[in-house]
Amino acid sequence: MTVRVRIFHADHVLPGDTPPIADGAVVVAGRDHGDSEGTVVDVGSASDMLAKHGSSGVEVQRIRGLVFPGLVNAHTHLELSAMRGKVPGGRGFVGWVDSLVTQRPEVAPEEDGAAIDAAVDELVRAGTMAVGEVTNSLAAVGALARRGFAGCIFHEVFGQDRALVMRRVSGLPAEVAARWPSWPSRDLAYAPAPHTLYTTHPDAVRALVGRARETSCRTSLHLAEHVGERRAIEHGDGPVPAWLLARARQSPVWPMRPLFDYATSLGVLSSHVLLVHLVEARADELARVAESGASVVLCPRSNLHIEMKLPPLLAMRAAGIEPALGTDSLASNASLDVLGEAKALGDRFPSVPAWELLKMATWNGARALGIRSLGRIAKGARPGVFAVDGDASAAADGASFLLANALLARRMIAPGRSGTDVTP
Ligand SMILES: [Zn+2]
Repeated sequence: MTVRVRIFHADHVLPGDTPPIADGAVVVAGRDHGDSEGTVVDVGSASDMLAKHGSSGVEVQRIRGLVFPGLVNAHTHLELSAMRGKVPGGRGFVGWVDSLVTQRPEVAPEEDGAAIDAAVDELVRAGTMAVGEVTNSLAAVGALARRGFAGCIFHEVFGQDRALVMRRVSGLPAEVAARWPSWPSRDLAYAPAPHTLYTTHPDAVRALVGRARETSCRTSLHLAEHVGERRAIEHGDGPVPAWLLARARQSPVWPMRPLFDYATSLGVLSSHVLLVHLVEARADELARVAESGASVVLCPRSNLHIEMKLPPLLAMRAAGIEPALGTDSLASNASLDVLGEAKALGDRFPSVPAWELLKMATWNGARALGIRSLGRIAKGARPGVFAVDGDASAAADGASFLLANALLARRMIAPGRSGTDVTP
């Protein structure tokens, strides 16, 4: 049967990038459009959309519930999925990471393909279309490619020994080619990424950020995640130097400079960089981040697990930052549902409208990863359209209903993109 367009008429349409539309409708390209099936033709109030597009022969589906775009989880570490529930929190970052690495002789999580496959299935069930996957081993690339994910693979580099780490940087193309003689997905961009400013030699940070700029792609950096990081960079003391010496036998020369001055000197405040966490960033530092055009990714449930602290969301909004969200890994989070991050922020910051929280889990993530065809139900986008069935007709705000009903099953009603459009 020829299906030119399909109309989904729902109690609430949540476009992702704009406020919800009560009694709304989404018009998408139908099955006879092949690879373009699911491209959004129009979106608006149901009365407008049905009047404009609802001629005879057009398929109209009435959805008792909500319609929203596929989610974007902008920060994951899927290779750690076998560590789910095994790394206790509440003792600060050094306590957490120490527990993680001391378990490694017994557990090599990146070799547990079943745990990684289960994690990717979990992302699919949550309605996720794209990820920003940070990886040391590239272990999850195959599973992400098989399930049709879009996004960025950030190949992580760390080490304070200059000669060793620069050799690793120059050896990365061979490392990738050995694992993937032919890269398995045109929807997954590849970029090497520095781990943090206290675990990666400054010359490597400069080289990796420079590469991202020259190749017009994105890279990623954990920044201002915890107090120990600032203490190490600015004063050369606190728990981080002691831990690096004990565990990694590394004793770097500390910059002894304000953290964001140091970050700026290495070029990381840049539109080519995703800055992850910023829990400890201050208002004047957030203003510098906003000015730089860098993307910001927050992982609130991971921060709660490790440091029992949330990022300064209100100060970020005041600075004009529109953050994306990520779950971080299952070693510091209970699930890979990025709507759980939106809900965690909504519980603590009730003044932030629910639709803005949903925007962080959709459109802001798509923009951070440079994939503008995803993350919003807007004309020309092909975001993957999802529905949640539930009695939302009386709900004043569809986005609040969605966040409050995270356990309702999410089903894809129109497919998402194919083909790459990763842009800086
Ligand atoms: Zn991370």
